[in-house]
Amino acid sequence: MSEPIVKGWCPGALRPMMSGDGLVVRIRPRGGRLTPEQAKGIAVLSARHGNGLIDLSARANVQLRGVTEAEHAPLIEGLSALGLIDETTEAESRRNIVVTPFWRYGDGTVEIASALEHALVAPDAPELPGKFGFSVDSVFRPSILGGVSADIRITPHCEGWLVYADSFITGAVVDTPEVVAEAAMELARWFISAGGIVDGRGRMARLWPNESPARRNQKLPTRFQQGGVNFAADGIASVGPHDIGFLVGFEFGQITAETMSFLAENGPLRITPWRMVLVEGATALPAIPGLITDPADPMLRVTACTGAPGCPQALVETRPLARALCTFLTPDDRLHVSGCAKGCAHPGPTPLTLVGRADGTVDLIRGGTAADTPSRTGLLPATLATNPALLTETEDAP
Ligand code: SF4
Repeated sequence: MSEPIVKGWCPGALRPMMSGDGLVVRIRPRGGRLTPEQAKGIAVLSARHGNGLIDLSARANVQLRGVTEAEHAPLIEGLSALGLIDETTEAESRRNIVVTPFWRYGDGTVEIASALEHALVAPDAPELPGKFGFSVDSVFRPSILGGVSADIRITPHCEGWLVYADSFITGAVVDTPEVVAEAAMELARWFISAGGIVDGRGRMARLWPNESPARRNQKLPTRFQQGGVNFAADGIASVGPHDIGFLVGFEFGQITAETMSFLAENGPLRITPWRMVLVEGATALPAIPGLITDPADPMLRVTACTGAPGCPQALVETRPLARALCTFLTPDDRLHVSGCAKGCAHPGPTPLTLVGRADGTVDLIRGGTAADTPSRTGLLPATLATNPALLTETEDAP
């Protein structure tokens, strides 16, 4: 199988990434929230300077696709007028924070996210790798972000907030948002001094992976050995009405400019890491094309990256295959279709993963990631689409 190219950094707005359909320009909404004016502005700019398609990322960011090199500067000017652009590329790449969409005014979440943003762009901020990130949960569903990629996690605690390193078993208990941000920066600096960055890359969970959790934990600064991390990840939220708004999904997490504009008419938007959007204050949304409002919709069971022809690394088309197979999955099944072994759309394990190969066939991996060893190889996408039972047969084809 061809080795995918791992770039080790994520696109931003000031430093976009070239894809098969043009530049990908990633916007990081502050606090994970877009005002209606910002969301409408993004929709207009996406249609004017890009191809009118907007992706939601697993880091709760918004990506404009199909931007040409010539259109990049006017696009940045427009986004800047909406207050969505950082001063430097360093600042935008450091501001890597996922905020729970379930926060409420006065619960401290917004203040923590804001204090973290300031700390991360300060002149003395730690120089962290491009993929290093933070998550901020709230007292409402306090571990909903437990399954989301992050290196330093902040979650409510009975005495304030717990700041802890991903994959470690204790953290520091602190009270005010400013102190939370200070503790998070201390932990980030410790990560660097512990040798967490190699060749410009590094993640918290990869520090001493072969040692027992207890021995790894003893290496933390003393204040981070206080409060126990004793909660399990709370899965992902379901589409439909919630106390603070309506959570809506999209096929493959992609929105058109028109749909973005329509959503903005209904309220401010909170961008989630599940490629869904929470429309603040909305109690219902009409069933317009492109919106997923029914939790039983089979499209919620599949994930697929851009695939061919949009991604230059893709070895197969992904989305037609995912669409063809979704109705054959049981409600508990999940399928990830990846154009190559990089697994951009879902880095973690999935019950069923199909990965493209250089010869145009796909491999099937059960219970693993796109980079894991397949249990079946060389399946033709067209055959699979008409014979989905191949997904559940246990033996490899002779
Ligand atoms: S996983 Fe998909 S989007 Fe990522 S590089 Fe491979 S083909 Fe492209």
